[in-house]
Amino acid sequence: MTAAVRRAAAAFLLLLAAAAVHAAPAPPPKLVVVIVVDQMRGDYINRYGFQWTGGLRRLVDGGAWFRRAAYPYLTTVTCAGHATISTGAFPRTHGVVGNSWFDRGLGATVGCTRDATVSTISYAAPVQGGEGPSSILAATLSDELRTQMPVPARVVTMSIKERTAITLAGHRADAATWFNPAAGGFVTSSAYTSAPVPFVAAFTKANPVTADLGKVWTRMLPAGRYLFADAGRGEKPPPFWTAEFPHALEAKGEVPDAQFFEAWESSPFSDDYLGRLAIASVDALKLGQGTGTDFLGISFSALDLVGHDFGPASHEVQDTLARLDRTIGALLDHLDRTAGAGNYVIALTADHGVAPIPEQAAPFGIDAGRLDGALVRQAAQAALASALGPGSYVVRSQYSDLILDPDVVEKLRRDPRALDEVLRALRAVPGVAAAFFAEQLDAHAAAGDRYARAALLSYYPGRSGDVIVMPQPYWFFVAADGTAQPGSATSHGTMYGYDQKVPILLFGKGVKPGEYARVVTPADIAPTLAYLCGVTLAHADGEVLGEALAPAAQAVRRER
Ligand SMILES: [Zn+2]
Repeated sequence: MTAAVRRAAAAFLLLLAAAAVHAAPAPPPKLVVVIVVDQMRGDYINRYGFQWTGGLRRLVDGGAWFRRAAYPYLTTVTCAGHATISTGAFPRTHGVVGNSWFDRGLGATVGCTRDATVSTISYAAPVQGGEGPSSILAATLSDELRTQMPVPARVVTMSIKERTAITLAGHRADAATWFNPAAGGFVTSSAYTSAPVPFVAAFTKANPVTADLGKVWTRMLPAGRYLFADAGRGEKPPPFWTAEFPHALEAKGEVPDAQFFEAWESSPFSDDYLGRLAIASVDALKLGQGTGTDFLGISFSALDLVGHDFGPASHEVQDTLARLDRTIGALLDHLDRTAGAGNYVIALTADHGVAPIPEQAAPFGIDAGRLDGALVRQAAQAALASALGPGSYVVRSQYSDLILDPDVVEKLRRDPRALDEVLRALRAVPGVAAAFFAEQLDAHAAAGDRYARAALLSYYPGRSGDVIVMPQPYWFFVAADGTAQPGSATSHGTMYGYDQKVPILLFGKGVKPGEYARVVTPADIAPTLAYLCGVTLAHADGEVLGEALAPAAQAVRRER
């Protein structure tokens, strides 16, 4: 063989080897971790990330960061967001249109995970009522991992809120665990298990929440490192706290009570607890250490409660994130030691963002405010009475959904002038931007109306309102409570950027790190993770985030 022929042969063999590496599909991750940070707005990474040094820092620096991720729909609330993350579909598909909706059959408002056919299984004091996944009308990623993988995935989820632990899990789980203040501890549902799950029972018994009684939430960082003012305008701390640090976790008396549990939920101590429960789950079930692919879902709730009370520009929000950075860091370090670095994949996102506190927006010349649902109801009732004669027409007004008496809906269908009067009256309410007869959303969306398009993506017939009402920018819905200024300091649930934009961070097995500027949605997370695992989602509206996938060959080479 001449040198030239030898070189050609060697090059050919190299090509063959490269082709073989390319042809072999990368093995699926051993563990899929979905982390949701409730109310984490997209810009928090830019604003507060400079002082993170733990897990959030690792995810931002070493992962794929989608900087323009946003929900495209109207009802940017917790339950809808979590179901979107877990199913890869929008509310119009998975049916979870809000945290609650008016059940026309029952004639009552029901929570998104309320299920009268199941019961609560408590790890603490017994409690009544049942919560389960029956209203999620699509399979979740973890449901599909369970049914499609050669070795069924072990599925573990946890949160402070029931609606987040349940929607992350889906229809089956080895352990779906959440906090219930009435129980004074953690609970699950007969939808998932017939008896307490032993490892959760052991952990919660060894680590009672009540051990945090008397602890004090202080700033983790030196006071000078916090942006903005501690007691900002319009902050509405819970009655047992002031607007300024420190915040004590105290009961009214000597023993843990509702006040203590509310303080605990609204503090980083609850995030820390979930982090430790997650680590205990990894160890107890050897998640990511078996022959298959397991699923771990964690929704950290404290930031949402803190954000509603103190607003997005507060020392409390900044501190909650700085502490969560450490909590997530400890979890990642533990996964590196157990599942092994490079064997697991993480997706971190949020269920929605949050508006600025109106009192803080106003000095900048921004028209901002709280929209009392009772005013919307009164305006609709008055317009209907004027168009149709005396009568009681409005059944309920909750957030963007206005529920009418079924006979009225039929009348409005046949009476465009009456309908027009009602919609005009609603648009005249201070703080209202748009109002649509729900049956006409399709037509308005097709004509290019952006409000109608957003509303349609979170509209599910029979669950959503008969009329959809949308606030103006920097306005949000509150429920009348008899005070001059009802509602939280701030909230979310609209189609504006501060509510829709959230982070998406992918990290680990199969992920190509970098910053990505394409406009994507959290519905893309489940399809992307499903792709990495080689399973198919039945109902996805989202797409695979292909630009953030490492070529299989790269993944194989890195592992050698
Ligand atoms: Zn919230």
